[in-house]
Amino acid sequence: MFCKLFGHKYEVSKKITYHVKEYKCTKCSRQLTTSGNGQLVELTPKYKEINSILNNIYNKRQAKLRREELHIAYKMTS
Ligand SMILES: [Zn+2]
Repeated sequence: MFCKLFGHKYEVSKKITYHVKEYKCTKCSRQLTTSGNGQLVELTPKYKEINSILNNIYNKRQAKLRREELHIAYKMTS
């Protein structure tokens, strides 16, 4: 009701990847996410599933990048 009058007040509820985030309205709990083409869309169960997969891949990639950086740092110091 409040949101209908004043608009939603979204906050980032979860960071999925560098580009994709989940948002939640602090007033009515409506959830949005960034879709593949960068538009904000309703966070449906389907998108939740996609996001959790994306997040997995993203975290793995980040961990790999960190390992590679460490590896390079070791090489430089030895
Ligand atoms: Zn709202």
